[in-house]
Amino acid sequence: MDDLFRYIDTHGDAFIHDLQRLCRQPSISAQGVGLEECASLLVAQMQAKGIPARTEPVRGGPPLVVAEIPGDGPRTLLIYDHYDVQPVDPLDEWTSDPFAAEIRDGCLYARGSQDTKGNIMARLAAVEAWLRVRGRLPVGVKFLIEGEEEIGSPHLGETLRERPELARADACIWESGAKDHRDTLNIYLGVKGICYVELEASGANRDLHSSAGATIPNPAWRLVWALATLKGPDEQVRIPGFYDGVAEPSPAEMAQLERIAAQRDDEAIRRDLGLRVFLKGLTGAELVRHHLFRPTCTICGLTAGYSGPGSKTVLPRRASAKIDFRLVPNQRAEEIVAKLREHLRREAYGDITVRAFGLEDPYKTPFDAPIVEVVAEAAEEVYGHAPIILPTMAATGPMHAVCGQFGMPAVGTGIGHAKGNSHGPNENIRLADYIQGIKHIALILERFG
Ligand SMILES: [Zn+2]
Repeated sequence: MDDLFRYIDTHGDAFIHDLQRLCRQPSISAQGVGLEECASLLVAQMQAKGIPARTEPVRGGPPLVVAEIPGDGPRTLLIYDHYDVQPVDPLDEWTSDPFAAEIRDGCLYARGSQDTKGNIMARLAAVEAWLRVRGRLPVGVKFLIEGEEEIGSPHLGETLRERPELARADACIWESGAKDHRDTLNIYLGVKGICYVELEASGANRDLHSSAGATIPNPAWRLVWALATLKGPDEQVRIPGFYDGVAEPSPAEMAQLERIAAQRDDEAIRRDLGLRVFLKGLTGAELVRHHLFRPTCTICGLTAGYSGPGSKTVLPRRASAKIDFRLVPNQRAEEIVAKLREHLRREAYGDITVRAFGLEDPYKTPFDAPIVEVVAEAAEEVYGHAPIILPTMAATGPMHAVCGQFGMPAVGTGIGHAKGNSHGPNENIRLADYIQGIKHIALILERFG
């Protein structure tokens, strides 16, 4: 691999320049800004590297960027990424313009640099190195790069059900991964699912003087009572059937949780958050098990009546709550919505409307899938230490749509670091991590081939 690594080192500046160019193109899916332009730019950048890329239309959404490059070995590796980014606010907390891609002290600052344009470009650079140095790839590679990940990939599952060939491969390298606060690389084998809903209670057809409270129903109270039936102070979700099929960690996963717990500094995290205790007093491996293997029910927002300064006596006409459920294998997002509706009906809150959006199923790759060992061993060689393997992330991504529905194993690895600030102001990557990440992908291609 010396020849490839040498090529990567000597072309580092060009790879950084490519990434700056991509980061300077805004592509905010939540606001529909710059998506087509970003897809076109990406295709042009891929073609310049000798990768036969093209866009594929998506009904109702921005195009996919795809490419297929044959390789020497019989296997094919899918690389999944997304070219869309989160909105930039709060803008005044950025030191430099979010789309300037400024480099300071060995870091590149840009919205999307860590999540996940840096990973896109690192993977393209690795393929370029193979094509330029050896003239061919050791394994077939497919790229699948979507433009709606940050808004829950609303069209991806359906697109791939209709056109499974866009994703079909033997294994998948997922979009991201990062070094933790001790600079140990973390890779992960799964994601939680999500079921995001809005509950709304209605009362009179307009806000009223609160003196009407003895005779007029108050939707804020109705909503609060209904919410109280969803989860108890024991943290158990009370929707019948919610925990059906929830998979407990395997012995191999449990051993991994112990290893993760030994590396974590829970006390520092607790102090940093200004908390007296974690939920239910959790510590150690049990805390990690809850974090990665337990589903959640979280009230994300509550709206009703007047909440400005001072007092305003008002009986509100409506009240609403935004709630997300993070799901684990083998829960299904659609079934959870159905169980929630049924539960509200049975508890006599059938008048509360449930609007579901952002449904994604969970997915997890088994520990013994060959790609896991390939990614971990290649990481050990490039990074000089064994990575921490997370059986799953606590967060969500469309891994079920891309891999789960085809039973394909997936491993997430990437160029992020603990202070990369994805989704926040001053998102950044360290350039040294970027170059190291390119080498990691180049070695994965060799080993998987
Ligand atoms: Zn993101």
